[in-house]
This record gives sequence, C-alpha cells and structure tokens, in this order.
Amino acid sequence: MPAKPLPIDAPAPLSPSTRVLLGPGPSDVHPRVLAALGMPLLGHLDPEFVALMDETQGLLRHVFRTENRLTMAVSGTGSAGMEAVVVNLIEPGDKMLVCVNGVFGGRMVDVAERAGAQVTAIERPWGEVFDPQEVRDAVKKVGPKLVGIVHAETSTGAWQPIEEIAKIAHEGGAMIAIDTVTSLAGVPVEIDAWEIDAVYSGTQKCLSCPPGLAPVSFSDRAAQVIADRKSKVQSWYLDMQMIQRYWGSDRFYHHTAPISMNYALREALALVVEEGLEARHARHLKNHRALKAGLNAMGIGYVTAEGHQLPQLNCVRIPEGIDDLAVRKRLLGEWGIEIGGGLGPFKGQAWRIGLMGQGSRPANVTLLLAALETCLRDLGYSVEPGAALAAASEAYGNAAQAVAR
Ligand SMILES: *Cc1c(COP(=O)(O)O)cnc(C)c1O
Repeated sequence: MPAKPLPIDAPAPLSPSTRVLLGPGPSDVHPRVLAALGMPLLGHLDPEFVALMDETQGLLRHVFRTENRLTMAVSGTGSAGMEAVVVNLIEPGDKMLVCVNGVFGGRMVDVAERAGAQVTAIERPWGEVFDPQEVRDAVKKVGPKLVGIVHAETSTGAWQPIEEIAKIAHEGGAMIAIDTVTSLAGVPVEIDAWEIDAVYSGTQKCLSCPPGLAPVSFSDRAAQVIADRKSKVQSWYLDMQMIQRYWGSDRFYHHTAPISMNYALREALALVVEEGLEARHARHLKNHRALKAGLNAMGIGYVTAEGHQLPQLNCVRIPEGIDDLAVRKRLLGEWGIEIGGGLGPFKGQAWRIGLMGQGSRPANVTLLLAALETCLRDLGYSVEPGAALAAASEAYGNAAQAVAR
C-alpha cells in the first residue's frame, strides 16, 4: 500500500519583502537582472543559449582583465568556485600554502585538506593583510605547488595587495590562486597583469546578481597542469576537464546549465561593461568615503587596518555598550535595511556594511546613516543630531568638486 500523503495546506503565493541589502552579500540586484531571471527558458544546447555562453565568456574575460581561454561560470556559489580551483589544481599529496586572515582563507584550508593537499597555513590577525616578506619566507620553507590567498576578505574588510605576492609565488616555482568573490567589479582585479594562475569569484557581491554561479579563470599554465594530472579530479561535478568540453566547441553534455542564472549573470556583466570598470571602482570609493565620514562623525571606527579598508565591505566597531542584535533587528524591521554582524573574533564586536555593486549608492549611504543614528540615540548613545549626514554630504561635495576640477 502506498503511504497516504501527509495533509498540507497550499501556502500563499510567495511575496518576499523589499529590502535594502547592505550586508556582506547578497547585494541588491538591478531590475534588468531580475527581469532576466523571468525570461523564457532555452534548452542548454539551444544555439541561442550556446551563443549566450560564448558572450558571457567574453564578458568575464573583460571583467577579469584576462585573455585566458579557460574562463567560464561554474554552477554553484562562490564556494564552488573556490573548490573548483583547488580540486582541479591539487592532486593528493601536493603542497599548498594558504594565507589565512579571516573566514575565507580558513575555508580554503579546509577545502584543500579535503582535496588531499598537504596544507601549510600562515596567519595574520583578523583585519590585517599579509606582508610580502612573510609570504616569501613561507614559500621558501614549504616549496608549495600552489599558493592561495583572498583578495578581499569579507569577514574583516581587509584589502590584500596581490601583485607582489604573485611574483613571490612564481619565484618559488608555485602557482597562485586568488579569491576575488568580493573584489571583482568593486575594486581593480588584474588577472593577466598580475600573472594570476587561477581565480574564482561569485555573482552576489559586487556583480550584483543573485547567488548561484561562480566565475572562474585559469591561465594557460594552470590549464596545462590540469590536462597533465595523473589522478582524476576528486569532484565529478567540478572537473574542469569535463566542464570545458561543454563550454568549449564540443558542447558535450556534462550537467544541465542553470539557464536562468546564466541569463542573470550575462545581464549583470552587461551592466558592468556599460558603466565601465573604472567608473564602477570610482563609484565604490566615493560612496565608501561618504559612509566612512558619516560613521566617523558618530564616533564609529573601522576594525580593518587603515590603508587596507575595502570600499565595498566596511567592517566597523560597534560602540561600547551597544547591543549588536538590537540595532540590526531594528534596522531590518523598521527600515528594511540588512547589514551584517561580525564573524569569529568580531562576533558582537563589529558590523559589516556592504556597499556592493548596485547597492553602492548615495541614497543607501544617507539612508543607513540616518537610520543608524536614530537607533543609536534611542539606545542612549550620544551623537550630535545630523552630524553623520552633514559629514557624508561634505564628502560627496568634495568628491563632486574634485570631478569638476
Ligand atoms: C562570499 C564569499 C565566499 C563564498 O561565496 P558563497 O557564494 O557564499 O559560496 C568566498 N570567499 C569570499 C571572500 C567571500 O566573500
């Protein structure tokens, strides 16, 4: 006898609230990207879809600033990109050096260990970045096949300079893989100029697309390392040798591409190109400066080392005596604003305010500053009324004058 289905009432039609997403991702999405998600499905081998994949590869090469042939979007979120890079370049027993100064460097260690790598991790306190010299020492000592490092550490807001570290890896005979999940399309990423062997990103941070795809790119050297593997890639799903036969001219079926997500990414990338990478980076910087001026006027400082603060991820110290959750709940409940809490040692100590992609706008900066000021004053924190908005306004005025000059 087949079991009777459990009784269930049909739920009401889906109707999520409209939020202002100013956390560590996902970020707000442009209406054109949302519209792309609702367009008619094509088959994953339809000539029109195949043309869209080719177009997307070209757009990704533009945004990554690379000519790498092996450039595509892996199905899955940013972590799938991390895993794709690691499992394709690492064979069991290979040595990998990972630089850890936050959650995502730590995640890379875990992924590499699961792939059978002999991992050495070097660490920096959260909020700081690596100095090239300490990476040089570690590369000399370990002699790794691969060095992994996070460009924009979303758990701390730290902006890691990459170029010199890439040189150091190469001098030591190693390849370098970088995490650009939060950096891509927010701050400059130069895959060819920096001679990066492997890179991955995600769609839901500064690309302002829903989560679901992971852009990746491999240099010709890395592609050769993959082609010369002695062992099979540990993950069937993320095996680039098979995936590239679908993205390449063979169009060999591997897994069904998430059609709608690929539409969305295509449209999000088109918006990035329309705006221009330089203009987009400048926009992120301008809004960051205004936010920072406003926060400073309320006595709120950054936990991230000065000079290494990401414009798109502002990790700031919660004022003494202020309850983290009380503020975040109220921001969400009354203003519909989401900001992120701290992770690891910053839990309860820091807020993570994302100004990513579509979310990096003056309207969001002033809305958040005004809302935060209200919350803090109601909690008894002493702030001069309007000081934050005045400081932000002045920062915007200075930016406008600089442009006029
Ligand atoms: C968000 C993020 C990831 C993971 O991406 P998911 O889409 O959450 O899987 C990896 N690295 C960094 C730096 C990130 O910010």
